[in-house]
Amino acid sequence: MRKGEERSLAKKLWRATMARIHEELPSASFQMPSSGIVQATVCARSGKLPIAGLCDGVLKSEYFAEGTVPTESCDVHYQGMICQYTNLPASEPCPFKVGGVLELMPIEHPALQQSASVTQQITNPDGTVSNIAVPQNQTNTCPHTIEFMTQPGVEGIVEQQRLEIEAAIQAQAAAQAAASQPEGAPAPPPPTTATGQRSKN
Ligand SMILES: [Zn+2]
Ligand SMILES: [Zn+2]
Repeated sequence: MRKGEERSLAKKLWRATMARIHEELPSASFQMPSSGIVQATVCARSGKLPIAGLCDGVLKSEYFAEGTVPTESCDVHYQGMICQYTNLPASEPCPFKVGGVLELMPIEHPALQQSASVTQQITNPDGTVSNIAVPQNQTNTCPHTIEFMTQPGVEGIVEQQRLEIEAAIQAQAAAQAAASQPEGAPAPPPPTTATGQRSKN
């Protein structure tokens, strides 16, 4: 047998073999088993259906037995008027309400049962994120109700709270600036006993 014929025969054999292999592999064998398992995207915080624009950063894909896919929308992320003082959804007459996105603690969260206050994140209108401690006995809305706002001397209370908010925001901004820019930051050094910047490497 000459070289050319040899090569041509090998080719023929190869083609015939591959053709048979493909015949024996029906394409159905590559499909996912459709045994009642469905995939759905949920909010990782609440495990419920994500709200567009609110849960975008914490989406996760999960498998569910058919029929158990959550049907409720996320109840952890909140968008609307937020009380800057309490970091709760704002009451109608609240003097500190700002538009923003709020991440509420699920009521069953252990932090709510163990400590007197919980830390909540608030996304400020300027894009910065603040962590503010919120009393444990949180209600659905902030305490700046009509009753609160019409009590005698409320101006003084509101002014005091406004100062507290400003101080908290400034402390937050300073902490963030210090964290993101360890050197040359305009923020004062953190009040720790550490002397100077230590680099790990
Ligand atoms: Zn969510
Ligand atoms: Zn309020």
